[in-house]
Amino acid sequence: KKRIFSGIQPTGIFTLGNYLGAIKNWGPLQDEYNCIYSIVDQHAITVRQDPAKLRRQSLECYALLIACGIDPEKSVLFIQSHNPAHAQLSWVLGCFTQFGELSRMTQFKDKSQKNADNINAGLFTYPVLMAADILVYNADLVPVGQDQKQHLELARDIAGRFNGVYSPTFTVPEGYIPKTSAKIMSLTEPGKKMSKSDPNPNGYISILDDVDTILRKFKRAVTDSDGEVCYRAGKDGINNLMSIYASITGKDFAAIESEFTGKGYGDFKMAVGECVADCLRPVREDFARLMGDKAYLQACYTKGAESARQLSAKCLRKVYKKVGFIEL
Ligand code: ATP
Ligand code: MG
Repeated sequence: KKRIFSGIQPTGIFTLGNYLGAIKNWGPLQDEYNCIYSIVDQHAITVRQDPAKLRRQSLECYALLIACGIDPEKSVLFIQSHNPAHAQLSWVLGCFTQFGELSRMTQFKDKSQKNADNINAGLFTYPVLMAADILVYNADLVPVGQDQKQHLELARDIAGRFNGVYSPTFTVPEGYIPKTSAKIMSLTEPGKKMSKSDPNPNGYISILDDVDTILRKFKRAVTDSDGEVCYRAGKDGINNLMSIYASITGKDFAAIESEFTGKGYGDFKMAVGECVADCLRPVREDFARLMGDKAYLQACYTKGAESARQLSAKCLRKVYKKVGFIEL
């Protein structure tokens, strides 16, 4: 079986963007692949976090992944900081990554603009740690949203470079990016991607939002003034709502256009809101149940950490040997 790795930051409750762009695919992949999924808390501290809040969110995000269909019996589901191999490999890979390459990363540019008072080295080297996350398990496939494509390209470059300098060591991973819903945009600023760290909660749908909140946020979503439900350049807001609707219902854009010809944006927004609410209801219910059983969650992440450490040990040993560290 081929191996899959993917991670998500515990920087907040997951958004509809995280769900449609990435997590929704993770569950179904479990039967076909050996899957390793991680709450990447070490990535989260590239932006300043309140410690108590980070701890709470990490557990909530862990429970949310289970609620979204990740089975901790089938997959390795763990918390990144519980396996030191990621940080260890990251140091080595950093020595095979050029300053210029990291300077070109658009996420670094975006996030350093938003956090101008804390442009730390971790924010800059984030893609190196992400490369380590993937390469330390020799993952074949990485299911992520469109916004991570550039980081994944870099991980492939680093792997190829290391393999070239020494001998084949890392699997060069492929991306697995969904066609529809590859990138869900903000509801208030449809030119920007939907992000769970957006300070304005009206910009995103949290997957734990209740029905009323979901309907209200869609009602207020920024659109345009021509009043036609059709997918066209310049209609960022409507295009985004159509992508969301398409991704959940499985309908294509042509079918959606004919469904709403002659109807206004109000009807369309209501339909999108309702299908989103229906899709997220079971997740919300499962999450509440899981959070009531902390002992179960703890048992799961403890077991996950052990499996993750075991799976990564061999790769790290090999890398240390190749670069010339004395074996202990
Ligand atoms: P942050 O703002 O803290 O970076 P985020 O919402 O970008 O949070 P991440 O933890 O960085 O979430 O990313 C988790 C996964 O969700 C990644 O696979 C990423 O590609 C995907 N993702 C994030 N935002 C979107 C989006 N707007 N549309 C589709 N996929 C997304
Ligand atoms: Mg992100």
